[in-house]
Amino acid sequence: MPPSGPPRSALAKMCQSCHVRPVSTYRTAATGGTRWGSGKGQPVLTTHAPQAAQAVTLPTTLDEAVAALAAMPTAVPVAGGTDLMAAVNSGQLRPAALVGLGRISEIRGWQYQDGHALLGAGLTHARMGRPDFAALIPALAAAARAAGPPHIRNAGTLGGNIASASPTGDALPVLAALEATLIIAGQEGTRREIPVSHLLAGVDMLRGGELIGYVRVPLLHAPQVFLKATGRTGPGRAVASVALVLDPARRGVRCAVGAIAPMPLRPLDAEQWVAQLIDWDNDRAIVPEALNAFGEYVAAACIPDPAPEPDGSVPQLPPAVLHLRRTVAALARRALGRALS
Ligand SMILES: Cc1cc2nc3c(=O)[nH]c(=O)nc-3n(C[C@H](O)[C@H](O)[C@H](O)COP(=O)(O)OP(=O)(O)OC[C@H]3O[C@@H](n4cnc5c(N)ncnc54)[C@H](O)[C@@H]3O)c2cc1C
Repeated sequence: MPPSGPPRSALAKMCQSCHVRPVSTYRTAATGGTRWGSGKGQPVLTTHAPQAAQAVTLPTTLDEAVAALAAMPTAVPVAGGTDLMAAVNSGQLRPAALVGLGRISEIRGWQYQDGHALLGAGLTHARMGRPDFAALIPALAAAARAAGPPHIRNAGTLGGNIASASPTGDALPVLAALEATLIIAGQEGTRREIPVSHLLAGVDMLRGGELIGYVRVPLLHAPQVFLKATGRTGPGRAVASVALVLDPARRGVRCAVGAIAPMPLRPLDAEQWVAQLIDWDNDRAIVPEALNAFGEYVAAACIPDPAPEPDGSVPQLPPAVLHLRRTVAALARRALGRALS
């Protein structure tokens, strides 16, 4: 189901006028895959043969997987298959061949690297939700715990979440707030790095035969929060989500709002405004009124008022959009409150 909210064209204008950084543009999956839940209007992908998959390759290293994709240009990588197989089952995608990533052990864990964590793209949501991972990157663990029902979390991976680039991908606002970097594997063992925001924005896409190998995330050693509003109780896709991380070394607050637009949005002005109100030397205290004001600031930056009419009157936002704005304000207020408590 597409997220409710203002139309994309309107959001693009809002982002320009309100100093909100759009982290992605609407598009199909970075790898030529599909997006789940797009529903009516979703483009049917055309790069695949009309018959069911003829070949499945199961490489055991990242380089073997890249080589397999190079050898079969019509092949599609599949990790957990939670997005991809849904597209196959609904008839939207008919891959001529599949390259399964599930046996590549090098991308199923993580390692430490210069104050960062190098996360394998094959990490499942279930693995990221465990306490040892939560101690490392709390917001990503919280997003992983919120990503669908248990059978989806057991199979679905970080790399698949990024490559699908769904507006409601729960890992995406967290990675945007953390300013994570992707390490992309290419042919003949090549590796290149791109900020996750560049991939989500379509500024720098995956090239044919490339795979997301790892995600490099800074270890900030400070509170992080991910909050998600859904349209129903129990596991569900986000109507709106907020990721908020504190960066004490830089005395910064970084926030990204997910699901309300085709891409996570960074309310940069609101981040800077609230960061200078925090007493970083004294228990990170902040006056209570600032929490409310921050929520309103974030919400208004991401869902601004419509432009005034030529006669000077300002049109009202539709009730559903006003409700979404209040939801974002509440999530942002609570996220900051929890991070500072
Ligand atoms: C019922 C249901 C509920 C869901 N709920 C949520 C939810 O609440 N929150 C949420 O965020 N998601 C949700 N999802 C979506 C899905 O589970 C996630 O997006 C998951 O992380 C996808 O990972 P995967 O390994 O299954 O990807 P796959 O389905 O294997 O692949 C998805 C796409 O990514 C490509 N790909 C996979 N790995 C790589 C790689 N390493 N490099 C390059 N391309 C790659 C594939 O070619 C394909 O195009 C839900 C899905 C279902 C079916």
